[in-house]
Amino acid sequence: MITIQGKGVSAGIGIGPLYYYRRVTTTITRREVEDTDAEWQRFKDAQATAIEQLGVLAEKAREEAGDEAAMLFETHQMMAEDLDYEEAIEASIKEEKLNAEASVSDVAAQFAEMFASMDDAYMQARAADVRDVSSRILGILSGVVQGGIASDEPVLLASDDLAPSETIQLDKSKILGFITSGGSGSSHTAILARTMGIPAIVGVGDVFKPEYEGRTVAVDGSTGAVVIDPDEETLDHMLKLREEQLNLQKMLEELRGQPNITKDGKSVRVYCNIGSPEDVAAVLKNDGGGIGLFRSEFLYLNSKTYPTEDEQFEAYKKVLSDMDGREVVIRTCDVGADKQIDYFDLPKEENPAMGMRALRISLSRPDFFRTQLRALYRASAFGKLGIMFPMVTSVWEVREAKKMCERVKSELKEEGIPYSEQVEIGIMIETPAAVFVSDRLAKEVDFFSCGTNDLTQYTLACDRQNNDLGRFYDPHHPALLRALKIVADNAHKNGCWIGICGELGADLKLTETFLAIGIDELSVSPSAVLPLRNAIRSVDTRESADRILSELANDYQAL
Ligand code: PEP
Ligand code: MG
Repeated sequence: MITIQGKGVSAGIGIGPLYYYRRVTTTITRREVEDTDAEWQRFKDAQATAIEQLGVLAEKAREEAGDEAAMLFETHQMMAEDLDYEEAIEASIKEEKLNAEASVSDVAAQFAEMFASMDDAYMQARAADVRDVSSRILGILSGVVQGGIASDEPVLLASDDLAPSETIQLDKSKILGFITSGGSGSSHTAILARTMGIPAIVGVGDVFKPEYEGRTVAVDGSTGAVVIDPDEETLDHMLKLREEQLNLQKMLEELRGQPNITKDGKSVRVYCNIGSPEDVAAVLKNDGGGIGLFRSEFLYLNSKTYPTEDEQFEAYKKVLSDMDGREVVIRTCDVGADKQIDYFDLPKEENPAMGMRALRISLSRPDFFRTQLRALYRASAFGKLGIMFPMVTSVWEVREAKKMCERVKSELKEEGIPYSEQVEIGIMIETPAAVFVSDRLAKEVDFFSCGTNDLTQYTLACDRQNNDLGRFYDPHHPALLRALKIVADNAHKNGCWIGICGELGADLKLTETFLAIGIDELSVSPSAVLPLRNAIRSVDTRESADRILSELANDYQAL
C-alpha cells in the first residue's frame, strides 16, 4: 500500500484502476512562408473553426455541468479572438514570415508565461487556458485529434494537469476521479470536477510510476489522500465513507427550495460569499438566499489599474440584476494586509495587517472612496443593495463613511442619476475595538457582519497567514464566541441585524451556538449552503439555547 498526499479540491471517494491520460502532442515545424496573406488566412480559418468547436463544447458543458462550466468555454472563445493575442500572431506571420503553427505556438508560450508569472493564483491558472485554446488551434492547423480514455471500465484518471477542453471531452461515465500532479484549487479541472461532482485531487507531484497503471487506487477528494493498492481495512473504510457521502448528497439535494428553519420554527438567512459577478451562478445553483459578502477588492486585484466608476457600476449592476431582487451586500474595497496591489502604491509597512488597509485607505483617499460609492449607489437602482465597510474600529470612521455616502447621493440626485433610498449600511465586526463599542456602532448602522477570519486574528493575536500557529489560531476560543454574543446583544438592542461572513459561519459544529446567540444571517461559500441548511433544520433551540448560553457565560470547557 502506498499513500500519497495531494490537495483535495472536489469532495467524494473514488475507487478503481489507475489510468494515465494520453495526450496527442502536435509536433511544430518552423518554416518561413512567402505568401504571408495566405498563411494569415490559414490561421483565421483555424481560429474560426476553434471558436465554433468551443461553442459546441460550451453547450455540452451546459448540459453536463451547468452555466458556470459553459462559461469556461465561452471565455475560451473570447480568448481565441483576443485582440492582443491575434495581433501578436499576425505580427509573427506577416512581419517575421513564420508559418501559422510556429506563430501560434510562440505566442501561446509568451502569453502563458506572462499569466504564470502573475502574483494572483486566479490569473496564474489562466496560463492553462491560453495553452488549451492554442493547442486546439494547432490541432486544427495540423489535423490532429485529441485523445480520450481507451478503457472499457471506469478509471481514476491521472495526468500532469488537464486542460478544461480535455476534461469536458472525456466520457464522464468512465471517470471515478481526477488526480493531477500539478494544478490548483482554482484551476479549471478543479472547478469542472466540483460542478460535475467528481472527486479530484491536485498537486500530488511527480510520484506516479508507469508500473502503477492498472493498479487499484482509492482517493478521498475531501482530504486529498491517494492510496495505491489499499489494504482490506483501508478499502473497507473508504467504501463505507463513499456510501455515507452518497447518502448525504442525495439527502442534501432534496433540501433545495426548503427554508432554513429550526425544528422550533426559528429561521436564519443563509447567504453566500462571492468574489466576482461570475460567482452568482454558483449561488443560484446552490440555492443561496442572497449575497452576504461580495469582496469588491477582487475587481481591483484583477485589474492593472484602478477600475473606473463605470467598470465598477457594470459589475455591481450585474450581480444585483442576476440576484433578481434578493439582498446583495457589497463590501467596499478591502485591500492592504495580505491583499497588496502594486498600483495602490501603499507604503511598505512593518505590520501590514495592522496598517493602512480597508476602510482606512478609503477614508484617507476620498476620491478613490467616492468613485466606488458612486458606482455602488448607481447600481442600487437595480436590486436590493447593502453597503458594508471593512475593518472598523471607531464610531467616527463610520460617521465619516456615511457622510461620504450622503455626499454621493446628493451628487447623483443633482445629476438626475437614479439610485435607491433603501440601501442598507453595515459594517464588518473584525476588531476587538468594534466588539467593545458595538453598542455605539449599532446606533449608526442597519447591520453588522462578523468577519471571524480577522476577528480571530486580532482577538487572539494570531496571524491568520501563519500556518505554523496551528491550534493557537482557534476560532472556537471562548473569547471569540463571547465576543459574538456581546455583538449580537448590542445589535438587537439597537434594531440591527447581525450576520457572520467569515469561514466560521460554515462550521457546522457551531451552528447550534450561532442560533443560541441569535445570529440572523450566515454567509458562506455556495457549496456550503445545503449542508448548513441541513444543520439548521436539525436544531431545536428550545433544547440547546439555554445550555449553550450558560456554558458561554460560566463554565465553557475550553477556557
Ligand atoms: C473576515 O475577516 O472574516 C472576512 C470575511 O474578510 P476577509 O476574509 O476577506 O478578510
Ligand atoms: Mg476580513
